[in-house]
Amino acid sequence: MSSLPTVCIIGAGCSGFTTAKRLRDHDIPYDCFEISDDVGGNWYFGNPNGRSACYQSLHIDTSTTRLQFEDFPAGADWPHFPHHSLIHQYFRDYVDHFGLRDTITFGTAVEHAARQADGTWRVTLSTGQTRDYDALVVANGHHWNPYLPDYPGSFDGPVLHSHAYRSPFDPVDMRDKRIVVVGMGNSALDIASELSHRSIARHVWVSARRGVWVLSKYRGGKPADKMMMPPWMPKKLGLALSRRAIKKTLGNMEDYGLPKPDHEPLSAHPSVSVDFLAKAGSGDLTCVPAIERLDGDAVVCVDGTRIEADVIVCATGYRMAFPFFDDPELLPDAQHRLPLFKRIVKPGIGNLYFAGLAQASPTIVNLAEQQSKLIARHLTGEYELPSVAEMEAIIARDEAKHLGQYYSAPRHTIQLDFARYVRDLHREIEAGRKRAAAVR
Ligand SMILES: Cc1cc2nc3c(=O)[nH]c(=O)nc-3n(C[C@H](O)[C@H](O)[C@H](O)COP(=O)(O)OP(=O)(O)OC[C@H]3O[C@@H](n4cnc5c(N)ncnc54)[C@H](O)[C@@H]3O)c2cc1C
Repeated sequence: MSSLPTVCIIGAGCSGFTTAKRLRDHDIPYDCFEISDDVGGNWYFGNPNGRSACYQSLHIDTSTTRLQFEDFPAGADWPHFPHHSLIHQYFRDYVDHFGLRDTITFGTAVEHAARQADGTWRVTLSTGQTRDYDALVVANGHHWNPYLPDYPGSFDGPVLHSHAYRSPFDPVDMRDKRIVVVGMGNSALDIASELSHRSIARHVWVSARRGVWVLSKYRGGKPADKMMMPPWMPKKLGLALSRRAIKKTLGNMEDYGLPKPDHEPLSAHPSVSVDFLAKAGSGDLTCVPAIERLDGDAVVCVDGTRIEADVIVCATGYRMAFPFFDDPELLPDAQHRLPLFKRIVKPGIGNLYFAGLAQASPTIVNLAEQQSKLIARHLTGEYELPSVAEMEAIIARDEAKHLGQYYSAPRHTIQLDFARYVRDLHREIEAGRKRAAAVR
């Protein structure tokens, strides 16, 4: 029997199953519980867990070479920006290739997880069973708990969150409807572009508190995320060069009929679309300011514009949530902050790991593949965490590094520059290896 700690992994989306693989590579005993009947989480269209935000037309915004796992390359014949069905198949193939499927318990939710007096985790499953583990990995995703704005007034028609949107016909038949899409994040741009086809909506209005820079998926014929600033480049210089390149290729947002952004490019999580600018420029959709109130058959914007509408689609994002925890220390604060060392460990709780809990640019898909290197080495004792005080100091420095470029908002509390993060993570693993060797 292994003398290594026993681990419970919550979730078998890409963050959970790649962590499972790493633990298995290190012979660390684990159970992985998954609510659904298959792996894939968000990328499982129609997921019976009710948590996937995939719409029928969704293509990933991250290019193939950026999202692929380092030990399981994507197909050479893949398009630059695969459809969700290809991503899900890739995940299924990964899990089957590495023989992980039998190690995942499907159809089973972790309903409660609490730290015992001796530091172990007691986990209560949807089967009613309780089990104890030495360590817990939380990989429950952070794009399933929709955030809905609370507008004064009432609206006569359907109001849905983009999480519920599947297609122009499901769950609401959008044909010939007057539609207000709220937000200008990636789901908003996709959904507004799709619905604004003349064969579908009568008209689409896009309501947002501020203008955004709508970035192209491509630059110079290549996926733009391939040209992100390399981690060796000083951040200030990299940002300045990227911002200049974006402004030069895109021009002014106002020229497409969009509101002028009140921030520089890359000061917000990238909103990326190849269709949206053309749809706005073609008059198929109209941008309006934020909604002030709902008024029966209309929405009223802060500038007094009254739009008679049939449907509202709120593409207003998500909030992190861990319904299985009741310890407030383990939950995000009122500002949607949950500071973590390397976005993995809460200082002072050395046997709890969060996997994939970041808004990494350009990808979250293979983020936990990297994070699991630290997790596995910590569990085997090859890696030692810094002291709590050091971790807190590093968190502050990392947040300044990763969040500094973004305007302050709940959606920007867990941003990461993927390449910089991975470089630093590898350095940290090496530093922790030396710490571990020193105490042995
Ligand atoms: C519309 C949309 C577009 C996106 N586009 C991109 C993109 O272009 N690039 C990118 O990198 N990312 C994108 N994302 C982000 C997406 O969240 C990640 O790509 C990826 O799905 C994260 O994987 P995950 O495993 O962390 O979470 P998820 O995919 O959400 O998987 C979590 C899993 O945990 C399971 N689970 C949850 N709670 C429990 C529990 N209590 N017990 C047992 N099982 C549980 C769920 O059933 C689920 O299977 C997008 C997200 C959305 C919503």
